[in-house]
Amino acid sequence: MPAGPADGAEWARTLAVRARRMKQRRRMFDLIAASYLIDATLLLLYSFAGTIPQIVVPAYIACGFGISLASIALSEFGFHDRFKDHYLVIPTAAVNLALVMGFCFWAPQVAFLFLCSLFIIFSFASLRATPQQSLICWAAMTAVLAVLFVFTTTPIAMPNGTLLERLVTMLVLVLTIGRCVFIGMYSSAMRESLYKRGQQLREAYQRIEELAELDELTGAFNRRCIMRMLDDEIARADRSATPLSLALIDLDWFKRINDSFGHPTGDEVLRTFAITIFANIRSFDRFGRYGGEEFLLLLPNTTPGEAHVILDRLREIVSDLDWTAFSPGMRVTLSAGLTTMSPEETAESVLARADAALYAAKEKGRNRIAMT
Ligand code: GH3
Ligand code: MG
Ligand code: MG
Repeated sequence: MPAGPADGAEWARTLAVRARRMKQRRRMFDLIAASYLIDATLLLLYSFAGTIPQIVVPAYIACGFGISLASIALSEFGFHDRFKDHYLVIPTAAVNLALVMGFCFWAPQVAFLFLCSLFIIFSFASLRATPQQSLICWAAMTAVLAVLFVFTTTPIAMPNGTLLERLVTMLVLVLTIGRCVFIGMYSSAMRESLYKRGQQLREAYQRIEELAELDELTGAFNRRCIMRMLDDEIARADRSATPLSLALIDLDWFKRINDSFGHPTGDEVLRTFAITIFANIRSFDRFGRYGGEEFLLLLPNTTPGEAHVILDRLREIVSDLDWTAFSPGMRVTLSAGLTTMSPEETAESVLARADAALYAAKEKGRNRIAMT
């Protein structure tokens, strides 16, 4: 019984899965019953032709529908759900195999019909069976066939004495192949629907990724989002002929911070750094995590001179922050590579320029802004 809301949701999911599986099984058992109906009709025709005793037909109908009804009843009462293989491929195939082979022994005059049924049983089973299950079914069938063909002298007949018998035998063949073709089409429809579902899942996953805009650790925009914003800002700057400046910001000696104070403290530093930047930029500036401890700051409508003032102020704020609150002796500084877009420039080339400037800032001793 569900105890809380989470358990309740889990319970509802389990019920939904069970209902879906039950529906799938119902479809399978309906098809098996329909297949028995076809065989029963053919047997009826053989009994009209005088090939088999009349009693065989009602007996076959009773057994075939008895098995189908019992399977459906067990399935509806959830018996199948107790097993990992909820189709119960091997037991289902075994019961049907036993029935068909039993009638093959009883009415060998129409053994051809029952032997043809084996193809249908196997086609059905292989829809759901694992390779191992298929091999087990095949071995069981081989054992039964060995008894039928090797250890008895029962004649295995294909009725063709009269015209009616020949017609019915032809029908047996035609309808057997027809059912195999149907099962083949069913299986390809199943594959198609699986493929479509996989495709939908992939698309949904992609959409979720697109919707997730924020970096989990720092709360800054994630790389995908800030790169999209960069494209948008480049387009806007081109349209409005305004200067777009941008800076690649990298924390100095961050590996040492991790090594000296531990990775979790490193994470806290990244978070605090991001919050500090957010608190000190303009509402239309865009700040995102470019990767690791490297960030991208977009400064729309900002000349190189203005951008330098902004970046230097941010640098000072970060370096003046009391980082010893995290750990005694801690100091955090940043270096930044600053650049301004030229008209018609691409995102790649401007980022490469900012990266080169950042490298220069590191080379010159860190805790500084370099411009190109
Ligand atoms: P430099 O001044 O040259 O930039 O030195 P650095 O130590 O910062 O050098 P580098 O950029 O090579 O090292 C970055 C380090 O940042 C390495 C990596 O372990 C650490 N880092 C990257 N992402 C995270 C993160 O999410 N959390 C923590 N704690 N550390 C991270
Ligand atoms: Mg660094
Ligand atoms: Mg780095």
